[in-house]
Amino acid sequence: MPVYPYQCDECGRFFDRKLPISQADAKQICPNCQGSAHRVFQAPSIIFKGGGFYVTDHRKTSGIAKDQ
Ligand SMILES: [Zn+2]
Repeated sequence: MPVYPYQCDECGRFFDRKLPISQADAKQICPNCQGSAHRVFQAPSIIFKGGGFYVTDHRKTSGIAKDQ
């Protein structure tokens, strides 16, 4: 399956998700803040906006309880 980059609408974090093509346009859940993340169509150039940073996360994350 291909890996797609997403960016969180809430905190701006980038992350990757490995998904079937049929699900690539679906909204994803941010692993950082559980916010809604949209697909981005190019690999992020180096963006260190706010506290966001690039992470690679192929696993389904759940129960991340980390203070901002
Ligand atoms: Zn977020």
